[in-house]
Amino acid sequence: MDGHTPRKTVDMNSVAVVCRRAWNAVDPRDRTEMKSPAQTVVVHHTALRYCSNPRDSVPHLAHIQHMHMQERGFDDIGYNFLISGDGVVYEGRGWGIVGAHAKEHNFHSVGIAFMGNFNDELPSSASLSALLRLLHIGVLHGHVQPSFVLVGHRDVAKTACPGEHLYSLLPKLREQLQNH
Ligand SMILES: [Zn+2]
Repeated sequence: MDGHTPRKTVDMNSVAVVCRRAWNAVDPRDRTEMKSPAQTVVVHHTALRYCSNPRDSVPHLAHIQHMHMQERGFDDIGYNFLISGDGVVYEGRGWGIVGAHAKEHNFHSVGIAFMGNFNDELPSSASLSALLRLLHIGVLHGHVQPSFVLVGHRDVAKTACPGEHLYSLLPKLREQLQNH
């Protein structure tokens, strides 16, 4: 440390999104475009392995996609985006595409999953920051309505998702979104 450590600034206008090709996604069977910008953002956890580096995340994403398509019969990985513990955002279905993550809400929402089980784990600050930046960009580019509502999956369905520790941070995240 040299005593001149620059104050960490977060550029709200940028977030790196790892594209599908980079995690070896297979093509969707079908895709439906959303008719208007998302009104709701639904936060999920995968309830699977906690991933915090690409060596773990990349094969795990392919596994999740396989599960969603082969076992659950979805057309593609269910979520629009996934975020790993190292704060990397992975493209799922991406912006503007109807997901399969929250019954009856898919057509007007974006589903974002944190990779891990947050009944046990605490979400990292890197992953939370990535979510805020992703949403900021989503609004900026017109994929998400500026007045969108941030909810946890359990707010709209009978589920423990997105896990107690992540769910309890949602009020703080809403506050932070207000301030940007
Ligand atoms: Zn969920």
